[in-house]
Amino acid sequence: MDKELVKNIVNCSRCGLCMDVCPVYKAKKTETSVSRGKFLQLLGLIKKHLKFDKKIKYNLDLCLNCKKCKTACPSNIDAVKIFAEIKKEFNSPLDNFLNSSIIFKVKMFCLWALYKVKYPLGRRYYKKIKMGETPLKIAHFNGCATKSINNKFEIPFKFKKEKFDCCGLPFFVKGRLDVYEKYKKRNLKKFENFDKIVFDCATCYDTVLNYEGVNKEKIVYFTDFYKNKKLRAIKPFKLTFHKPCHLDMNKFLEIEEILSHIENISYERLNKFDDCCGFGGDFFTRHIKTATILSKEKIQNVLKTNSDTVLTTCPTCLWSLKYGIKPEGAKIKAFDLADFLHNFVEIIED
Ligand code: SF4
Ligand code: SF4
Repeated sequence: MDKELVKNIVNCSRCGLCMDVCPVYKAKKTETSVSRGKFLQLLGLIKKHLKFDKKIKYNLDLCLNCKKCKTACPSNIDAVKIFAEIKKEFNSPLDNFLNSSIIFKVKMFCLWALYKVKYPLGRRYYKKIKMGETPLKIAHFNGCATKSINNKFEIPFKFKKEKFDCCGLPFFVKGRLDVYEKYKKRNLKKFENFDKIVFDCATCYDTVLNYEGVNKEKIVYFTDFYKNKKLRAIKPFKLTFHKPCHLDMNKFLEIEEILSHIENISYERLNKFDDCCGFGGDFFTRHIKTATILSKEKIQNVLKTNSDTVLTTCPTCLWSLKYGIKPEGAKIKAFDLADFLHNFVEIIED
């Protein structure tokens, strides 16, 4: 095992602070579901007391990649990165095939088809946006899940619909660091052709901001175009907002600031707004019981606000909200934040 990787695993002081924040631990209450317990198992591997087997593989997979443990960890241990590096080392040829770009494309196609059947109208546009002018060359980063669930995107400025590769995160977390690197390099090369790259998925945004060598000045979140503008909703709304795990807290506060200053909108902060919705990319397909526990709690908190609309800014969180609301029979609608601002909010003063 790589020396740096061993050093990072050994660095865990077993303080247990990660247990307070880990959504999987919250749902399962087992030591091996949280980073501290996983590191103990990995220590067993390092000391050769344990062999890499199905159990360890399962426990490593039992992670929503939410990064909450890194934020809470006094030693700043990046558990998601460690798990990815361990998977890279122990992935079988079959694992590598199942996590290849081809299989990923097939999965994305299935997601797209499923979404089309469930929501045939997809992303709807009720009004034509007034496009502003800017001398900047702007491109939109249309991520994989965004493409599958919402294939259109608008901001109040003209931009180019450029084809980028996947941000690479789905490969990174499965230990396919080679595919992640390939996509990262291709994206960084394309970024050179633009002044700004606009993101509307919190997860792609976070992943790209963490690319080594990226020019962070170029990377913008679409909500920046709505900042410091006088906005009015075309009808009254009572709103709440689910913060995706990968949305930075500062961006979350900026979004709250925008929403709470829109005329005609009453905004209420969601109780436990930062709690994971349980979807975690394709986590829910393998750990449905754990995902459902988290989703149920999220939906209960959403319903307690008595809002008519819940917004979020990650396509898989949006799916999770829609999926969770349905069995409750509640009237509340879930919208993607970019869609909501485009469809229902006017810029009345720049
Ligand atoms: S990344 Fe999230 S789900 Fe995974 S171990 Fe850390 S806190 Fe738990
Ligand atoms: S918070 Fe960090 S140091 Fe503490 S137990 Fe968790 S991973 Fe280890």
